[in-house]
Amino acid sequence: MTFEVVKDLSAGLYFFNGKRQTIQGSETFPVYEARSGEVVAQCPSADAAHVDKIVDLAAEAQPQWGRLTPIERGKVLNRVADLIRQHLEELAVWEVKTNGKPITEARIDIEASADMFQFYAGVAPAVLKGDYFDLPSENQTRFAYTRREPLGVVGCIGAWNYPFLLCVWKIAPALAGGNAVVFKPSPFAPASPVLLGELLKAAGLPDGVYNVVQGEGKTGEALCLNEKIAKVSFTGSVGTGKLVQQNCAKRSVKPVTLELGGKSPLIIFEDAEISNAISASILANFFNQGEVCTNATRVFVHNSLVEKYTGELLEVLKKLQVGDPLHEETKVGATINEPHLKRVLGFVERAQAQGAKVLRGGQRVHPEGVEKGFYFDPAVITNLKDDMEIVKDEIFGAVLLILPFEDEAEVIQRANNTSYGLAAGLYTKDVGRAHRVAAKLQAGTVGTKQQNQPYEIFGCKITYALGMLVEHTVWLQNSKPAQFLSIPTTIAM
Ligand code: NDP
Repeated sequence: MTFEVVKDLSAGLYFFNGKRQTIQGSETFPVYEARSGEVVAQCPSADAAHVDKIVDLAAEAQPQWGRLTPIERGKVLNRVADLIRQHLEELAVWEVKTNGKPITEARIDIEASADMFQFYAGVAPAVLKGDYFDLPSENQTRFAYTRREPLGVVGCIGAWNYPFLLCVWKIAPALAGGNAVVFKPSPFAPASPVLLGELLKAAGLPDGVYNVVQGEGKTGEALCLNEKIAKVSFTGSVGTGKLVQQNCAKRSVKPVTLELGGKSPLIIFEDAEISNAISASILANFFNQGEVCTNATRVFVHNSLVEKYTGELLEVLKKLQVGDPLHEETKVGATINEPHLKRVLGFVERAQAQGAKVLRGGQRVHPEGVEKGFYFDPAVITNLKDDMEIVKDEIFGAVLLILPFEDEAEVIQRANNTSYGLAAGLYTKDVGRAHRVAAKLQAGTVGTKQQNQPYEIFGCKITYALGMLVEHTVWLQNSKPAQFLSIPTTIAM
């Protein structure tokens, strides 16, 4: 079967029984194109009955897929990777329309998605193998072994900032492990997982193994409550993550993977190479409109460098182009929607009222040709205190905060003064200090001389994130509890 990138959303935003379709729902939500600000579709929300029906279809389809060997499943995943690469440009354009990110960044997401499918196709045969143990016995005649089995149907709930790639992060390991998937995207960016459904179908995935349901909080809740869902993987805010965990324990007990928010620090020491540190600060804050969980919005700059760093940063940012994300030269595209834009503006306004100084940006802008879209001019803010809301809470927008510091012990304490702990970055030429500070930063990922790399592996801090590293290993290794078999001695093994 061939794959063609859809031109519009009229054929529906659901994917089940191996095809794109729609449902009759009593409630609908509008689908916006962030770039133009236009409503491009009305999508019905799935209620609990719809969700249950689609989970049943997935449960019927899963055993056949789960019985294939990892190598056979890997062939399908490798074909998806090939198809993604063949259609990279069209898929990237679609991703820009879905999310508002610059086309140059969308291409990276799509390429990384192909890599993900290929990675799991390759790694699954090696990882999905059991263990063997000798048991106490005379003449070594008793032993045990484990088998790796799929969980069954897994539920995935996604955020809107990486609609295509985030879906792939979840489904590639799940499918490689022989599971069926029911995916609920964010209603802010619902289309990309549907395109993935069509790609998977064209690559030969059996009908029913991958499914997409649409809706808001109630739909996600129905997925968590469904007893046939064996595991839930969630990406979103801390508050919703807590609800997901509670709901997954209400009717049955199921494992949950939570990838939640962040408020990461980036530390620039006095010996840092300043132009590199400035590039990193821009990447760490304005990539994907600042809508990145690992964003290093708290930029700690050594007192001796603050003036030089600030001056050069503002100079570089004079060239920063905010505009139509389909233009090659655009560096910052559209914020996902109007409420989120207002939320980001609200953080800036309240910080100003508390005495913070906005050195550039921080306002809504209306770029030529896309005036009605949701555009925010990236902000650089100083004159801050660590206990201000803007320094403590996740903004999820293009806001860079300059926080001066004097010494190493002080900056480590301030960087760690957060309940998040997803990522951190640091700039120094002193390798010893880089390792010493990295070891003390309470963050799952610490980048030295880098931040927000597209291929990074997420770790986690104590409470608020169970990151991608867990995600990647869980689905490949944590199938059903290991089954120990004691073979009678009369069987010659
Ligand atoms: P939300 O927590 O608002 O929503 C996430 C998803 O959960 C949406 O699909 C949402 O639907 C759904 N949902 C809402 N209520 C429930 C419920 N009771 N049960 C189940 N699902 C529910 O997050 P956002 O979509 O706004 O995403 C932004 C957040 O995601 C940020 O905090 C960001 O840091 C984090 N993130 C983390 C990443 C990581 O890897 N750690 C990567 C990317 C983002 P609806 O929108 O209708 O409420």
